[in-house]
Amino acid sequence: MRCPFCSADETRVIDSRLSDDGDSVRRRRECEVCAERFTTFERAELRLPQVMKSDGRREPYNEKKLQNGLSRALEKRPVDTDVVERMIGRIRHKLMASGEGEVASRQIGEWIMEELKDLDPVAYVRFASVYRSFQDLNAFRDEVQRLQDEPSAEIRRKQLSLIPEPESSKSTSTPGRKSSNKKS
Ligand SMILES: [Zn+2]
Repeated sequence: MRCPFCSADETRVIDSRLSDDGDSVRRRRECEVCAERFTTFERAELRLPQVMKSDGRREPYNEKKLQNGLSRALEKRPVDTDVVERMIGRIRHKLMASGEGEVASRQIGEWIMEELKDLDPVAYVRFASVYRSFQDLNAFRDEVQRLQDEPSAEIRRKQLSLIPEPESSKSTSTPGRKSSNKKS
């Protein structure tokens, strides 16, 4: 650590203690060149990264928005709130652990879809239909195709229940239908 007085590189720690709140370490240092003393604080960097949207704009990570999106996808699905909370916690954990200054919204979407895929196939498709439709209709069709190709009988069985269920009017694109005018 460089001395703030003379910019020498040689400084040494003469005292080190945990702060009162326990969240940081306070260190007293002494410069070996000019003998001045100064204090440093060390704390874990747990700021959440900025979210970079597909149009290049950045915005703070908004957990409320994620919660809303998930509750839409999980509407009337047999999934406990606890399970959803833990899932949101895991997403937050991934964001903090990334250590990046910014994370693409697309990446967050992928994480969520990974989680939903294991959790509830119906919610997965609902989320994918909203999330993907903003970006690329073909990607959405691929996603549905991928799900259909899953070798899991459990998922196949659950998928059947999707068919008679009317999708919300929010989703402007109907997969499978010829959609020529909505290419981004
Ligand atoms: Zn110095």
